[in-house]
Amino acid sequence: MVDILVVGGGIAGLSVAGRLSKSANVILLEAEENLGHHSSSRSAAAFIEDYGNDVIREFNSASKSFLSKDGVDVLSPRGSVILGKKNEKHLFKEQCTSFAHHEISVSDARKLIEIINNKSVKYAGYKEDIYDIDTDKLLQHFTKDIKANGSEIHTNCRVIAADFKDGKWQIKTDSKTFICDVIVNAAGAWVDELALKCGIKPLGFLPLKRSMARVPAPDDSGSHKSWPMAFGLNESFYAKPDAGEMIVSPSEETKSFPHDAYANEEDLAKGIFSFEEVVNFSVKRITSSWAGLRTFAPDRTLVIGFDSNIPSFFWLAGQGGYGFQTSAAASKMASEIILGERSSFGQLQKRVSPDRFK
Ligand SMILES: Cc1cc2nc3c(=O)[nH]c(=O)nc-3n(C[C@H](O)[C@H](O)[C@H](O)COP(=O)(O)OP(=O)(O)OC[C@H]3O[C@@H](n4cnc5c(N)ncnc54)[C@H](O)[C@@H]3O)c2cc1C
Repeated sequence: MVDILVVGGGIAGLSVAGRLSKSANVILLEAEENLGHHSSSRSAAAFIEDYGNDVIREFNSASKSFLSKDGVDVLSPRGSVILGKKNEKHLFKEQCTSFAHHEISVSDARKLIEIINNKSVKYAGYKEDIYDIDTDKLLQHFTKDIKANGSEIHTNCRVIAADFKDGKWQIKTDSKTFICDVIVNAAGAWVDELALKCGIKPLGFLPLKRSMARVPAPDDSGSHKSWPMAFGLNESFYAKPDAGEMIVSPSEETKSFPHDAYANEEDLAKGIFSFEEVVNFSVKRITSSWAGLRTFAPDRTLVIGFDSNIPSFFWLAGQGGYGFQTSAAASKMASEIILGERSSFGQLQKRVSPDRFK
């Protein structure tokens, strides 16, 4: 018998279990052999405070100090450049404002990223305080906390059914049965599927696929390592240095379903084409590629709170494309609600409550 059972060993489940384990007896279940196997090992690992809707941006800001040097120290400076082509002036200005970039000259942009093509690129915007997130370190931080606090992690342990009877959950997995007071649904793309298994009405989450290609660096000098992240307008692509090479994403949002996502050549080619349009560099080969699911609620906002019908079923869902950068605040809010502690978030809590779908 445990107090709280968390389903999902990605950033959502690990971060909330890490926090809860300080005050409660927690078990975390992950279906796969390894933690972070799905979306949490496939991200671009960026922290962009002005990304997402207003609610998401509040979570980004509220997470920053925990992630920075004063906290777990997983952020390192990257910066970002938005690039606009001829005839894109209006859209460029709009997106510079929306993502809080300031306009710079194309020649200044070329001082930051030498390969920018000054024939095709006519507009550039820059923002300094955009960061890389050391996502492995963050996942490990919470994993260590769970273990150090005496709670347990079970991998290769998929929840297949759950029953709520006499105030307790009986949770059946493919290997074992667990009894607990509260179940936390942090199952990523599978959150609605898990709800159904628990006899709870799904909320209509939609997994959207996004792909990534890793390509060789433009040259061997290593100078690209300090380049800022580069974006096309309307996220036609983004690219950034990664592990000695570059990653390039077509930034697509293809409607999908919960599964082990993989990239297709057409999507990767679109991203590389958009990237090549703005640089003096042609990609000769793809070193590796992958895709992941960014799972959104119908209003593209996080869902954090007890279910309206069964108040021992907790949703921590809809992290979309912001699961790492919102994780510190989202897990703090979730653990405060579950433990019945005074909220540090005021009205923000209402805006992410599952009650909005009643
Ligand atoms: C290409 C791409 C780029 C991204 N870039 C960024 C970025 O730059 N910054 C950022 O903050 N975010 C980014 N994201 C988003 C981020 O990766 C996700 O929001 C985050 O990883 C979601 O975490 P999660 O724990 O909810 O889901 P997951 O990591 O998918 O974890 C859910 C886990 O639940 C498990 N599970 C499901 N059902 C069951 C069951 N029945 N029993 C047991 N276990 C179960 C699954 O096996 C899975 O491991 C990106 C995502 C993608 C795909």
